[in-house]
Amino acid sequence: MNMSDLNTTLNRLYDTAVPDRNDIVSLLSISDADELKQLFTFADHVRKQHVGDGVLLRGIVEFSNFCGNNCAYCGLKKDNTTINRYRLSVDEILQSIGQIYSSSIRTVVLQSGEEHSIDAEWMAKLLKKIKSRFDIAVTLSVGERSYEDYELWRKAGADRYLLKIETTDKQLYNSLHPDMSFEKRIDCLRTIKQLGYQSGTGCIVGLKGQTIETLANDIMFFAAEQFDMLGIGPFIPHQDTPLKDDDPGELDMILKTLAVTRIVTKDTHMPATTAIGSLNSGDERLKALQCGANVMMPNYTPQPYKKDYEIYPGKRCIDEPSGACANCMEQMAQSIGRYIDYSRGDSLKTSSATTIQ
Ligand code: SF4
Repeated sequence: MNMSDLNTTLNRLYDTAVPDRNDIVSLLSISDADELKQLFTFADHVRKQHVGDGVLLRGIVEFSNFCGNNCAYCGLKKDNTTINRYRLSVDEILQSIGQIYSSSIRTVVLQSGEEHSIDAEWMAKLLKKIKSRFDIAVTLSVGERSYEDYELWRKAGADRYLLKIETTDKQLYNSLHPDMSFEKRIDCLRTIKQLGYQSGTGCIVGLKGQTIETLANDIMFFAAEQFDMLGIGPFIPHQDTPLKDDDPGELDMILKTLAVTRIVTKDTHMPATTAIGSLNSGDERLKALQCGANVMMPNYTPQPYKKDYEIYPGKRCIDEPSGACANCMEQMAQSIGRYIDYSRGDSLKTSSATTIQ
């Protein structure tokens, strides 16, 4: 593609309500350095125009690494007996949230493996306690649950819910997720939206069997559904999983996916994920922030548990004290002319599409 054609494609993609899949495919196929630069610069402008220069912080507390599933790419999978399983007490969780709140961060993400034994009432009580003590947005990321559980937690004060689709290729999804189903995943996302959560999903880039067309379909799905939050991260092989010998996701493909997603979804909150930062020795989150991302997630999981939440190996900053990342992120943002936005960072979408079929 010459530069003029690229410019035309970028503007057409930005201007149309329903993106042309062929445009997405051609942008994801770019490999020339100058063309990549043009794509990333365009996405960065869209980010600036629609979500501004602030980098939102979401304090994450990984409160349990128990999981009842066996996702093929994940170190927390049920059958991995090599990791030390832990579950934080309510007091430990509240203490961690207190630390987040004292750092002026106004969103906590409570994340765990898909622990089927988490009692819905236990979670509802925890949510009520959090809401009575802190003026803070709560995002849950605890996997697939029943309509009743999602409803109970929403009523108890949960504001947002993250449930990554991982891939919209049904066959690939089912091959990676034994005893789970693509339909159920979609059903849960539909419920989350219907119940008025600010909803988030996302995909993994670099899975074996994934193609540019697959990723284009993921982006088409994101554009159609206008999720409030989208997380795009790399596949990183974990030594204790069946995918241990697969290659990790390529940085350029991850950044291209992020950039094109920003262009078509415009005002979605998109993190520079810790997984991107863990891809190699440099911190690639800076690049992610410069091609569409506007969120970072400092880790407030207390020590000594951080290292045990190992979905993928080589995770960045697991030896740091809880919350140490927030200061570092301030410097990262400043180094690229941005600033940390300490607001709650609620959704900027004016209406949430509920069109998932
Ligand atoms: S990806 Fe989530 S649900 Fe799947 S095994 Fe890992 S922690 Fe469990």
